Amino acid sequence: MRRRSSVRDPGRKYRVKYERTPKRSFCFFCCLWVAVCGLFFLTGCATVYNPATGRHDVLLIDSVQEVQIGRGMAQQVVAQAYDPWNHPVEQRHLNEMGRQLARVSDRPDIIYHFQILDAPEYNAFALPGGYIYIFRGLYERLDEAQRAAVLAHEIAHVAAKHAVKRMQAALGYDMLAGLVLAGLGNKDPRMAEQVAGVSRTVFDLLSRGYSRQDEIQADGLAVKYLARGGVDPQAMVRSLEFLMKEEGPGGRTFEILSTHPRMEERIRKAQEEVNRLEQGKRR
Ligand SMILES: [Zn+2]
Repeated sequence: MRRRSSVRDPGRKYRVKYERTPKRSFCFFCCLWVAVCGLFFLTGCATVYNPATGRHDVLLIDSVQEVQIGRGMAQQVVAQAYDPWNHPVEQRHLNEMGRQLARVSDRPDIIYHFQILDAPEYNAFALPGGYIYIFRGLYERLDEAQRAAVLAHEIAHVAAKHAVKRMQAALGYDMLAGLVLAGLGNKDPRMAEQVAGVSRTVFDLLSRGYSRQDEIQADGLAVKYLARGGVDPQAMVRSLEFLMKEEGPGGRTFEILSTHPRMEERIRKAQEEVNRLEQGKRR
């Protein structure tokens, strides 16, 4: 015979109530719904319109928190891993170019930071919240318009919040909350080690590049930003062609060089975007 014990069958209490009084079950599910909504509210989860993608995204963190995470990561990861290139003239030039493109992007409301890193690699990447880096190796090999294209591609990742979505998928809310606190300057030693580990994971994640869809979207948005910023959008195609031909020191596959998707596909899609833009202008 089945024992009716609330310990062994914790769901029974509600089932009995459900069988006897259907009205109460409605109340129970109402309460559950309110609780779930409350939880989403407490964690700050929100559906936000993303002007870069034209879609609504479910985001666990808001823009201010994203900038805080980026700031914390910029201090922890980049400052420890790479030295900035000590060349004030080129640095100033990069800042001007970057700000000109950020102003015409789909996310002009945050402050962008641009930095040349003193390393020979052919690479560039963006941290959440608008912290954008290009390596000296790549910077020196590209012409002006190609440099702008690389910056526009990284700005596009920030504008479309690709990093936030990737972090959300990989980390979950608790880890993100830890990163936000680190960005606020929280020096709790118990948290510091954990946050440093998480920062490294995120940096690794972001530096390897994004999904096929995100990379192609960032190239397409970059074409648009270049045109708006007064730079020949064909530079996006030319910079990808350069990256396909030149492997760079170490031969590392890294963010802008991402072979996922294949460079041939990225070049073809970027060229289609440029053609579409040119046709639109002629009409
Ligand atoms: Zn990218």
